[in-house]
Amino acid sequence: MDGCIFCKMVEGEIPTTKVYEDEAVLAFLDIGPLSDGHTLVVPKRHCTTVHECDPEVLAELAARLGRIAEAVVTAMEADGYNVLSNNGAAAGQVVDHLHFHVIPRKVGDRVFTQWPAYKYRQQQAQDIAARIRSRLT
Ligand code: AMP
Ligand code: ZN
Repeated sequence: MDGCIFCKMVEGEIPTTKVYEDEAVLAFLDIGPLSDGHTLVVPKRHCTTVHECDPEVLAELAARLGRIAEAVVTAMEADGYNVLSNNGAAAGQVVDHLHFHVIPRKVGDRVFTQWPAYKYRQQQAQDIAARIRSRLT
């Protein structure tokens, strides 16, 4: 897509620190890592968010994600990793080309210091689940 920085990377117009490439995906080091080895996995076919993406493109990406994550986590001798996709500006998406962050983690690294979990009020969970279910039928 015109003007898309990740499409330009796929086309080879912008240099990347590539870690993997095949006919469907490109994976490269994030220029602003949260930890060493922080990798972005992107589909070669442009789409913006998970729900707007052709399921076939998603499936191709998902089929490769585990292998790439395993390589990242073992190469970095990490204790674990986060797989994260920001969808929409409100969720922190800055680059409007779907991508999955693979973020290697070490015990106690404090990469994400906040996880603001809370509890639903009585009946609230049932109501919310019903609203979501109604859009999936
Ligand atoms: P997001 O906030 O999920 O849209 O993440 C976009 C990510 O792309 C950020 O973590 C940026 O550091 C990364 N990024 C932006 N430009 C480049 C680039 N030229 N090479 C590698 N990573 C990039
Ligand atoms: Zn793109």
